[in-house]
Amino acid sequence: MAESKVEPPVKGRKPESHLGMVRRARKINRELAEVYPYAHPELDFENPFELLVATVLSAQTTDLRVNQTTPALFAKYPTPEDMAAAVPEELEEIIRPTGFFRAKARSLIGLSIALRDNFGGEVPGRLVDLVTLPGVGRKTANVVLGNVFGVPGITVDTHFGRLARRFGWTTDEDPVKVEATVAEIFPKSEWTMLSHRVVFHGRRICHARRPACGACPIAALCPSYGVGETDPEKAAKLLKYEKGGQPGQRLKPPADYPGEPAPPAGTVTVEVSG
Ligand code: SF4
Repeated sequence: MAESKVEPPVKGRKPESHLGMVRRARKINRELAEVYPYAHPELDFENPFELLVATVLSAQTTDLRVNQTTPALFAKYPTPEDMAAAVPEELEEIIRPTGFFRAKARSLIGLSIALRDNFGGEVPGRLVDLVTLPGVGRKTANVVLGNVFGVPGITVDTHFGRLARRFGWTTDEDPVKVEATVAEIFPKSEWTMLSHRVVFHGRRICHARRPACGACPIAALCPSYGVGETDPEKAAKLLKYEKGGQPGQRLKPPADYPGEPAPPAGTVTVEVSG
């Protein structure tokens, strides 16, 4: 299914002014806040180092797979000092299920050495420092800043980029440009939670291949309504995670998460997307 380009909103089909788009974008954010009041990072972590490592591991795999892998990893290497001294082959073996395990092991050992040698063994709380760490780009840095340091950040992953284009917020494919454009639309205080809500929506309802338009609570605000399944009954069957009555991705979800925790490694898992 082709991804939609920017079109006028469904209602009226009139050309939309920039101000109209901004108002509609903010309304989408408010609606998503009601649909996902419990939106959160879907990686399990207990401190900044764990979130940094988990985010690096999450490239090209699901958060569920990472969450099933990190308990053993953090049991063996709980601190940057421990991970910096890891035998590469042993670390690779633990993270193998997340894919690209040799490159990821190099990044994890490299960033741990940098944390140990340049930052006193602590994860720095500034973007300019975080992006100097091996394997850490703007997306990873923003995840860490927003979720452990309270520094607002927009996290443009594959879901956020796709939905921002479907919502008509941008036509850009480049994540850095998407981030800059969306940052102009929303106040800074909204950036982190907006990111979680949009990613939640992309994983549960507005999927890459078959968006469940017929079961979408923001359909009236979306210019791309109709790129996916519009039949309500068929669309309801496409819903994922707690919206589809399935487990989530976190083994340790926050207390307000309405779904079931994800199954640990080695048990039967549900099919997940992103
Ligand atoms: S599911 Fe359909 S209507 Fe809902 S946001 Fe995605 S494209 Fe728009």
